[in-house]
Amino acid sequence: MIRNFLLSICSLLLFVGSTIAQQRTCGANEVLARQLLEDPDMQQRMKDIERHTEDFIQSGGAHDRVQVTIPVVVHVVYYNSTQNISDAQILSQIDVLNADFRRLNADAANTPSVWQSIAADCEINFCMAAQDPSGNATTGIERRQTTVNGFSTNDNVKFYSSGGLNAWDRNKYLNLWVCNLSGGLLGYAQFPGGGASTDGVVCDYAYFGTVGVATPPFHLGRTATHEVGHWLNCYHIWGDDGTSCNGSDGVSDTPNQADENYGCPSFPTISCSNGPNGDMFMNYMDYTDDACMNVFTNGQKSRMQSLFNAGGARAALLTSNGCDQPGGGGSCGTPGSLSATNITQTSATLGWGAVSGATSYNLQYKLSVAGSWTTVSVGGTSYNLSGLTAGSTYNYQVQAVCGATTGSYSSASSFTTQSGGGGSCSDAYEPNNSRNAAKVIPTDVAFQAQIATASDNDWYRFSNTSSKRRIKIDMTTLPDDYDVRLYRNNSYLAVSQNAGTLDEQIIYNTNTVSSSYYAYVYGYNGANSNTQCYTLKVSLSSTNWRLDGSTEGEVEEVDVPLVFENAGFGMYPNPATGEVTVEIPVEADSDVTLTVMDPSGKAAIQLHSAINKGNNRLNFDVSDLPNGVYFVQLRNGSLAHTRKLVVNK
Ligand SMILES: [Zn+2]
Repeated sequence: MIRNFLLSICSLLLFVGSTIAQQRTCGANEVLARQLLEDPDMQQRMKDIERHTEDFIQSGGAHDRVQVTIPVVVHVVYYNSTQNISDAQILSQIDVLNADFRRLNADAANTPSVWQSIAADCEINFCMAAQDPSGNATTGIERRQTTVNGFSTNDNVKFYSSGGLNAWDRNKYLNLWVCNLSGGLLGYAQFPGGGASTDGVVCDYAYFGTVGVATPPFHLGRTATHEVGHWLNCYHIWGDDGTSCNGSDGVSDTPNQADENYGCPSFPTISCSNGPNGDMFMNYMDYTDDACMNVFTNGQKSRMQSLFNAGGARAALLTSNGCDQPGGGGSCGTPGSLSATNITQTSATLGWGAVSGATSYNLQYKLSVAGSWTTVSVGGTSYNLSGLTAGSTYNYQVQAVCGATTGSYSSASSFTTQSGGGGSCSDAYEPNNSRNAAKVIPTDVAFQAQIATASDNDWYRFSNTSSKRRIKIDMTTLPDDYDVRLYRNNSYLAVSQNAGTLDEQIIYNTNTVSSSYYAYVYGYNGANSNTQCYTLKVSLSSTNWRLDGSTEGEVEEVDVPLVFENAGFGMYPNPATGEVTVEIPVEADSDVTLTVMDPSGKAAIQLHSAINKGNNRLNFDVSDLPNGVYFVQLRNGSLAHTRKLVVNK
């Protein structure tokens, strides 16, 4: 359930759970509330992380996820021998994490059938650290006897000076502390955005793992699953709003839910009018007993995975060597965060993130069209390439050398040098070859850019505003057959694909305000030029754009009834897998709204277009829609025609 989510981060300050024996109590929100008060910058950091998460999800991030393996260190801080839990109890907890975050839990079948389809393999694995931050061998477990019999959420357990054990580098390890927690608290976590020295998860010794002194009903390791869920930026499923129905967990596929559930409820348990299926009380982020929890959803997985996307708050863990044996083979990580800067016609500066233990790096680069790499050995984490060819795309990748051991090459990245020649123009928005890499552009300003190679394409992101919602895109001075599309998030809204070097124009008279509109420019059949630029301008208006580029005056809009020849329109292909063409013959210039509706009547795609007397074509794309039967409606004023469309990919 997703609603008012950023507001709920603030409202956490108001709703902090109380302690009731034999019921699950988690201190994560209490700690977050304290940290937000103590650290004035933390709220902004969390909002930045939230924005990154939203971008990841909106750009179809669920498809871009990576397999993650997180090195774990367990700090056992004990007052007496009972609290000094066995290695076996610790390892049983790691087994539970590896089952729950990979959907390999034996009780997965207990998830109600209505939610089986959104149950997620989060693709996150955990390994016990094999080397400590100094590169020495370790079991991943360190122990200390303390004089403190009972820690609280004040984080004293995380510092040697206050009776605990210090955190290891959070960019390389997940820190798990096991100790005696006072007040019936089972555990607590720190969300992404908190400080480095306190980053991690704390669990009570009696509610950790599945053997030894693990105590029912919290003896199946789900306290750590829940807390690591917080550490990976998942919130309580009921939205931490007291008992109201207004809070959100920032996830779209979990039900709106009033309050936490305790014990082992029966399905369905209804609140907030969320019938017939009710609360997802078996979600790891609820408060039910260990035996009754069994699922993370795809939406929760997306929040977790966004942390490991480029720029994500926990992406540094991807290159951790924490689980590699020190000194032996395979102990050399893979460089990440590749970058190309200072790009000119003939030179560029390449950079990458440092790998722990690296003594040097091997950098390989080549023209993207070339077959073989040029390799150079580099001492640091950047290198200046010179003697490059203007207007050309280069690929590069980096490998770490750790003494006698060599790591794996990173995935290849690319950059394109500035074009040379007479009609030179800079291509300042590169690299922008994917929606993820889209560059933010201003509106009502024309600029120039290039489709420099056959594989180049350009993504731009822009916003409309509540006072100027109507969008017009003009693409002029085309050196070749370029086309342009308009998207909002993943929704393909409109295309202009005139032949040859004719100007392109999209008019999209929308009411929807969004900061995630995208213009996508590409060369038809590989058309490109590395010497000449095209010109793109996105214009906004408070009133409807007309096909001639002017805007309507401030007069009330009057719909001219659209008269269809043959009382209908053509549409092909049907069934469809991707792009669909609609042919509309009309007797007079007019405006139409085309809506693709799912069987429930919800608009899946909508586009608005001015059309001319005669035969018109509109295109839309269904490749983002699930298979099924849809209805395509063309509407002008009160007149509407509807046809059935089958999407079958
Ligand atoms: Zn919690």
